[in-house]
Amino acid sequence: MDLLTTIANWVDKIPEQKACIHREDFLTYRQLWDRSDALAVWISTIIPNDNSPVIVYGHKQPNMLTAFFGCVKSGHAYIPIDEALPIDRILRIIGNSKCKLIISPTCLPDELVFDKSIIVCDESKKFDLSLSAIFNEFSGKRPSIERRVTLDDNYYIMYTSGSTGEPKGVQLTLGCLTSFVEWGLAEFRIQANQMFLNQVPFSFDVSFMDSYLALVSGGTVRCIDKEMIANPRELFKEFQVADDTNIWVSTPSFAEMCLIEKTFTQSMFPKLHTFLFCGEIFTNKCAQKLTDRFPQATLYNTYGPTEATVAVTSLQVNQKMIDDYSPLPVGYCKPDCVIRIIDEQGRALPDGEKGELAIVGPSVSPGYFQNPELSKKVFYVDQYQDKSFRAYKTGDAAYIQNGLVFYCGRLDFQVKLHGYRIELGDIEENLRLIAIVKNAVVLPVTKDGKCEYLTAFITLADQERANEFELISSIKKQLADRLPDYMVPRRIIFKDAMPMNPNGKVNRKKLQEELQ
Ligand code: AMP
Repeated sequence: MDLLTTIANWVDKIPEQKACIHREDFLTYRQLWDRSDALAVWISTIIPNDNSPVIVYGHKQPNMLTAFFGCVKSGHAYIPIDEALPIDRILRIIGNSKCKLIISPTCLPDELVFDKSIIVCDESKKFDLSLSAIFNEFSGKRPSIERRVTLDDNYYIMYTSGSTGEPKGVQLTLGCLTSFVEWGLAEFRIQANQMFLNQVPFSFDVSFMDSYLALVSGGTVRCIDKEMIANPRELFKEFQVADDTNIWVSTPSFAEMCLIEKTFTQSMFPKLHTFLFCGEIFTNKCAQKLTDRFPQATLYNTYGPTEATVAVTSLQVNQKMIDDYSPLPVGYCKPDCVIRIIDEQGRALPDGEKGELAIVGPSVSPGYFQNPELSKKVFYVDQYQDKSFRAYKTGDAAYIQNGLVFYCGRLDFQVKLHGYRIELGDIEENLRLIAIVKNAVVLPVTKDGKCEYLTAFITLADQERANEFELISSIKKQLADRLPDYMVPRRIIFKDAMPMNPNGKVNRKKLQEELQ
């Protein structure tokens, strides 16, 4: 499949159909295509002969998609950044990406415009050119098809939590995305012109599960924003408008939150026939409740890291699956890839044996952007069907039985909290940067195998802790200036000293026991 040509064919066929809706704002297929053409022409004139990645900043504005297409039509990968991220974190991403252009369908905060050599195109009219001015000025202009990103070029770069305290950029090519989209269309039996629910921010790749599957099949993406998620009354008011949703894509955590409301049933969404879940454990409890409340719908549990493009396994979860397996498996690997379970030396283990899950095939990223050392640790080359492919060691523990993949948690200090991927080391490093903190260990508090919240154990540089309450709020505030809210531990416990192992390392097991 040629991804952009497939979408362009829908533009010709259904130009007036909505491609993306957010509240009262929407974009038709024709608008999405014409505007992104105009933007691509402008990008090619301001940064010609260059393929540096472009930062796209915003939230759920439909023109986020316009910006994505403007970038790839002019040969640039895009880096989606959600406006919920703290400025300090965004500045570090800007620094790492060495971008020359930032595009935003909203107003870019002044603090992000620190480097005058970076061109800014947003809606504030304070900086270089506004997005709407570009749509007008370059209206009707078409970028050369030769400029588009090709299969081996980066299509997007997704920044994710890194254990050293610095976010790391995962590069994904057009080939990676095409492989996912072709598989997803067949695996989830996507029909034309469906209404997709988009819940996950564009700065996480699960959001591409709905947006790209929708756009290559003439469907519509309906966006749920962070204000709706934070306010159940607003969310359920939106659901009344969204009652034409056919395909629901979200993290299981979001569905669990909706299930608290008793009226969240098939009668609220009479046309809903498919639930696609990804990003974290899909519990039997959640699957059972959805099966009971949405008898017409098919549920899929899918699994995959950002490094292997959205998802690489899928399982149709029916009543028999729920009865036979607890926890549920994550499914079967997509046919153009292979999953190997390997030991510490990288040797493949036989069926049924637990080890580290590695993914081999065209879905795998070419590595971390501007970070060959880190890439070398987890990416390698492997053979599959007599061909060499990129391979990625996930850090997930798993085993395979009759082709079915069973996820068994992490081998390292990465956790999933409400679907967000967090390296505990990332929080610990950022805590240690706070002047009053001497050392920090962050641990998950789990229930039914799922992380419920985070607790930080902290030793202080100065043992005087007059007012613990004030100290805690000051630490939390300083951390929130550097990290997204979901990475700020809910609980902070002060220790006079950390318990130590004989090897001189902090005894994390002992601290974990204190939390049980
Ligand atoms: P991300 O890169 O944010 O998509 O996070 C990838 C990680 O999320 C994986 O390596 C797993 O640890 C976890 N994960 C993703 N999907 C699932 C799933 N269906 N069940 C359990 N864990 C999952």
